[in-house]
Amino acid sequence: MAREVKAGRVEQLRRGWLVVAAASLLSVLALAADVNPVFVGAGFLLILLSLALGPSLPIDDEPSAPVAAPAPAPRDPLKDVADAYGALDMPVIVLGTDANVLFQNPAATRAFGEMTPGAHLSARLRTPGILDMVRETIATGEPNQIEHSERLPSERVYILRVAPIEEEGSRSAKRYFALSFRDISELRRIDRMRSDFVANASHELRTPLASLRGFIETLQGPAKSDPGAHERFLAIMLDQATRMSRLVDDLLSLSRLESKAHIAPNQTVDLVPLVGSVRDSLVPLAHELGVEIRMHLPEGKVEVTGDRDELVQVIENLIENACKYGQEGKIVDVHLRREPQQPVEFSVVDRGAGIPAEHVPRLTERFYRVSVADSRSKKGTGLGLAIVKHILTRHRARLIVKSELGKGTDFTVRF
Ligand code: ADP
Repeated sequence: MAREVKAGRVEQLRRGWLVVAAASLLSVLALAADVNPVFVGAGFLLILLSLALGPSLPIDDEPSAPVAAPAPAPRDPLKDVADAYGALDMPVIVLGTDANVLFQNPAATRAFGEMTPGAHLSARLRTPGILDMVRETIATGEPNQIEHSERLPSERVYILRVAPIEEEGSRSAKRYFALSFRDISELRRIDRMRSDFVANASHELRTPLASLRGFIETLQGPAKSDPGAHERFLAIMLDQATRMSRLVDDLLSLSRLESKAHIAPNQTVDLVPLVGSVRDSLVPLAHELGVEIRMHLPEGKVEVTGDRDELVQVIENLIENACKYGQEGKIVDVHLRREPQQPVEFSVVDRGAGIPAEHVPRLTERFYRVSVADSRSKKGTGLGLAIVKHILTRHRARLIVKSELGKGTDFTVRF
């Protein structure tokens, strides 16, 4: 820019001197041609005038005085930082050298509420560990991090990191510090679920294993020559071994379902014959429990996109549960609904004792049972509804549970 202005000025001077030269030449010619001295005088006057004005004659619209290029407006580093952090969905608070709050992004406002600009960080976060960490970073310029949990409004675990903000071209001490919050609550929850799952699965297997071992030892020792005990104990051992294999089958089912959770099934399945055949297979169990399974199926086909074997498992688990846990109601109603412009619905309604409301949201968790003893006595593993939920998630379908104590329970699958 400065170079352009200088070039313009040189051009202006050059043109000015051209005017002076032309006027001088005119005067000399007039003298040589012996013209009227008035004209010669006028010529000299012109020379003098040109000398005075020529070099500074304005050319076009260019400025006559040299113009300095406008200096770029100084950037406000805090504004740049605010612009950058504003779009992040991770809470970030920018602090000054006194640990005072200069800026909070919208995610920080959502997580911790509005903070008073300029107020000390401790007005909102009082944990001594956080304040010590911030103090140390401000003093040394070195980043630091710490784990921190908040109990209210809901339990959350964060990794808090504080680091100085680098300003372009600045070698002086840091003026701004970014305090960021990485939410690891979900990771912690999954970790806890995984370890609970391993503990539960081991516990479920350990009980029948311990029982099997006890019976084997008894048969080898005290009951060695007691044929009556042999028969009784072997029956119990078979029962325990069957329970273990049911559990292993359910665990394998869950693991298989998890491995293909993201692949949507693509068969076209007619639910009418499927529900009918599952019901037929469960009639002996229902009979044994004194329960009647009533069917309410529409005419014609009820087709959904799905995996046939998995849908059989869903229908079987729900009807079997209704017979087992709703046994005292004596009747289990199975409905299949297909209304125009409505999703297909399959529901199993029993007239049993119902489920207390606080248990309903947790029924699909692995190994969750309203009563462990009741479930065990009914050959339950605590994995049936977890399997149902996994299958339905893969089928983009929902499980809706409505239960009323003393009246019964309604499990509805909405496709
Ligand atoms: P389980 O193998 O124990 O049957 P599920 O995952 O199938 O495991 O069911 C979990 C728990 O939900 C059961 O232990 C039972 O307490 C409860 N439950 C399931 N279905 C019903 C029902 N129809 N009525 C009452 N309680 C039920």
